[in-house]
Amino acid sequence: MLKNIVLMGPPGAGKGTLATRLREELKLTHISTGDMFREAIKNETPLGKEAKAYLDSGNLVPDELTIALVKERLSRSDCENGFLLDGFPRTLVQAEALDKLAKEINRPIETVINLDCDQNELIRRISGRRVCKNCGAPYHVDTMKPKVEGVCDVCGGPLYQRADDNEEALKVRLQHYVNSTKPLLDYYRDKGLLKNFDSLVGIARIFDEVINFLSSK
Ligand code: ADP
Ligand code: ZN
Repeated sequence: MLKNIVLMGPPGAGKGTLATRLREELKLTHISTGDMFREAIKNETPLGKEAKAYLDSGNLVPDELTIALVKERLSRSDCENGFLLDGFPRTLVQAEALDKLAKEINRPIETVINLDCDQNELIRRISGRRVCKNCGAPYHVDTMKPKVEGVCDVCGGPLYQRADDNEEALKVRLQHYVNSTKPLLDYYRDKGLLKNFDSLVGIARIFDEVINFLSSK
């Protein structure tokens, strides 16, 4: 079973949804840099104050800050039995830092799961997205409704629309994805770690396919 996992894909491809299900099924520690930044912003920590303008505009938080955050998180003991990195790495500098860190702490990345998705579908998904304020679980107003409107199925927390889920910030996020993050697919393909999944088949099927893949190794 592969347990040290990186999840990749453009914003809206379904990384968060897949991660929420995988962490429950496999008892892996879910590390979402986006969730960590949003939590820091909510709590008005020094990191949150620094990161807020980047998130609101859809820009990337500087590598140095992001790498320090992941370094601290990935070194904790709850990552011993496997982790799901969601939203990190997003730049080549981050990918190289992750390689180095993974070696240092003896928790090598075992696979990189990429969710492929076409751009029109991304825009549709993100404009209707709602997220749990408590646990980060994602929903969609038309296609992934919670059982009770406005309430998270997983934890009962309130759902809200992210400040950067608007047309303008989304454009910026997609641009960063194409310019900085997409090239990492080649980086991981060269290392023999990349495994592609088609995001359009829907979460239930992706989830089964990913579980099958992880447990076949
Ligand atoms: P999505 O994948 O839907 O765009 P995330 O929750 O992963 O959303 O990230 C939201 C925002 O958090 C990003 O637009 C960026 O500002 C910041 N962020 C998250 N992860 C990183 C990272 N690895 N490097 C730089 N910025 C990041
Ligand atoms: Zn929740």
